[in-house]
Amino acid sequence: MAQTSNPSPRPFSYPQPGAALHCDGVSLESLARRFDTPLYVYSAGQILARLRLFQQALAGRDHLVCYAVKANSALAILKLLAQNGAGFDIVSGGELQRVLAAAPDAVSRVVFSGVGKTAAEIDLALKTGILQFNVESEAELKLLAARARKFKIRARFALRVNPDVFADTHPYISTGLREHKFGIDIRLARAIYKEAANDRWLEAHGISVHIGSQIRSAVPFGAAIERVSKLVQQLSRKGIALQSIDAGGGLGIDYHAGVFDAAAKVEEYAAALEHALGDFKGRLLIEPGRFLVAQAGVLLARVLYVKRNGKKTFVITDAAMNDLIRPALYQAWHEIVPVRTRIGKGAGKPRIVDVVGPVCESGDFFARDRKLAPVEPGDLVALLDAGAYGMAQSSNYNTRPRAAEVLVEGNKARLIRRRESMEDLLSPEVL
Ligand SMILES: *Cc1c(COP(=O)(O)O)cnc(C)c1O
Repeated sequence: MAQTSNPSPRPFSYPQPGAALHCDGVSLESLARRFDTPLYVYSAGQILARLRLFQQALAGRDHLVCYAVKANSALAILKLLAQNGAGFDIVSGGELQRVLAAAPDAVSRVVFSGVGKTAAEIDLALKTGILQFNVESEAELKLLAARARKFKIRARFALRVNPDVFADTHPYISTGLREHKFGIDIRLARAIYKEAANDRWLEAHGISVHIGSQIRSAVPFGAAIERVSKLVQQLSRKGIALQSIDAGGGLGIDYHAGVFDAAAKVEEYAAALEHALGDFKGRLLIEPGRFLVAQAGVLLARVLYVKRNGKKTFVITDAAMNDLIRPALYQAWHEIVPVRTRIGKGAGKPRIVDVVGPVCESGDFFARDRKLAPVEPGDLVALLDAGAYGMAQSSNYNTRPRAAEVLVEGNKARLIRRRESMEDLLSPEVL
């Protein structure tokens, strides 16, 4: 990306050369002054635009977009999405509590995934009346039936089947192969549905798959749904009529510069699903996380030091791996841009640098051997596409308080999570 071009399709751009990077109508320099750094900044407009892409692409059929809460679980973002018709995919009782806090009316649009649901989590979800449990093992289905019987609440469930489809992504976030811990072997699903039909506290509501994350091609999604559709037809011939197919999440974005047409990507994805669904007349659920929020967010950091060790130049920022762990964990790429580019005389040449944080381990880096416009201590830099799996995966490693978060709505910005204080960090501990 040329440093002064608009990083389309992101909602971050320079109004003119030499101006500060803006999120929609708000200058990131002004946000750093108001809220300090490190700071997560999200565009509400972009999140809603992405939600609408899915809603429009699926307008021809009964559907529900269930945002995967784990990608970014900020209450204000959950509320924004719920107000615009989204449901939610949750993977813990804690995430259910977040939905209850942010958008209690949306609880009827919640699907509950995850391989290790506890009895307490199941109880909470039963009592609040979620849409469906995505069950990942026979043992879990047994526990669900027992809890449902105890409370005399019928449990709507979908089996999360493992379609044995290969998706080309990072091994840590690929989930659709038989040897992964997720889901139930699709070849065993039919027998389990038949068995469950004898239990009056279980309602076979749907079927689900989720083959992984950051998948750029629509092909594996289509392949997975084709296998699921076949099973749904077989079940219906046996008198088990499922009302919904949940295609999971996982549609990837382009973390590199490049041209990336989000609308075309969603259309291609929706077409692959449509084709694979054949004449299935029920409801389609999808669970996008990253695609909705990743490009809506940046992590704003300030340069503390620039130093040379041997042949290498290190740009040390006040943000670190505890704020954004994706580079360390997945070797992920995040574009890094100066918030204000120097222009004209004295602009300087780009340098090859490592961008790192202050945490005491060598895994604490954001970029290695990266070409970056010259920056100096005190300058602000923005790490792009940090809206998904950024704050959500942050920690207090090195006793670093978590960053604050800001939501930009057009020309206005508001704090949606204050910076953590040392009191927040120390208060659970006992001497
Ligand atoms: C993580 C996850 C998602 C969301 O994945 P993205 O890649 O963020 O779209 C959806 N469904 C389930 C079950 C998940 O575990």
